[in-house]
Amino acid sequence: MSRPPIYKRVLLKVSGEALMGSRDYGLDIGVLRRIAEDVRDVVNLGVQVCMVIGGGNIFRGVAGASAGMDRAQADGMGMLATVMNALAMQNWLEKMGVPTRVQSAISMASLAEPFIRRRAIRHMEKGRVVIFAAGTGNPFFTTDTAAALRAAEMGCDALLKGTQVDGIYTADPRKNPKAERYDQLTYLEVLARDLQVMDAAAISLARENKLPIVVFNIHEPGAFTAVMLGDGKFTTVID
Ligand code: UDP
Repeated sequence: MSRPPIYKRVLLKVSGEALMGSRDYGLDIGVLRRIAEDVRDVVNLGVQVCMVIGGGNIFRGVAGASAGMDRAQADGMGMLATVMNALAMQNWLEKMGVPTRVQSAISMASLAEPFIRRRAIRHMEKGRVVIFAAGTGNPFFTTDTAAALRAAEMGCDALLKGTQVDGIYTADPRKNPKAERYDQLTYLEVLARDLQVMDAAAISLARENKLPIVVFNIHEPGAFTAVMLGDGKFTTVID
């Protein structure tokens, strides 16, 4: 008999950039489909999954602000970008037979449900993937913080951060071949060493709620499943 997963309920955070593949803007359908396959496999293990997807592949508030826009206005555009990514992911998950709901922090009733915490939990209990769109619904925040917030609200056992490499390294392993991967770090080590895995607000929120953060390679097929089974390569941030 195969081993049971080590987590019952998790939140997967995927950055918008991860969805670009080799493009420099927008969505790579091949990448979306592949990540959706990994999510389907984890759902099939019996793990309850919710997701937060960033919007950096389409628009970032800071970029608008540095071009002269009002930051809060630009962040509104960034949050809408995350809704586009959420709808795209929902499309591919449902095409693979995974029932999925998008809940948006900004009300847009004809496209997505509003964010309702108890309803989201119920969806997950019924085996549906819930994608939380529009970040926290507030400007000046990031989708990393939204991910930590939703994971805490949903009572998730872990926050999974899918990145471009298989964990947190001492330096960028794509530039420095001597970079070494950490197996485990504390929240305070991440903050003190300024390790650029999630922003400080997200790390602090996870720390306060004793929410482990597991950093793994979102582009490696099967890596999400491996993490769920306690196999594979990843870094866990925990006290
Ligand atoms: N954003 C926001 N409030 C939030 C989450 C996101 O205003 O709670 C905006 C912000 O402008 C941000 C953009 O949405 O730049 C896209 O999110 P993020 O940069 O976190 O996406 P990622 O880097 O994960 O692709």
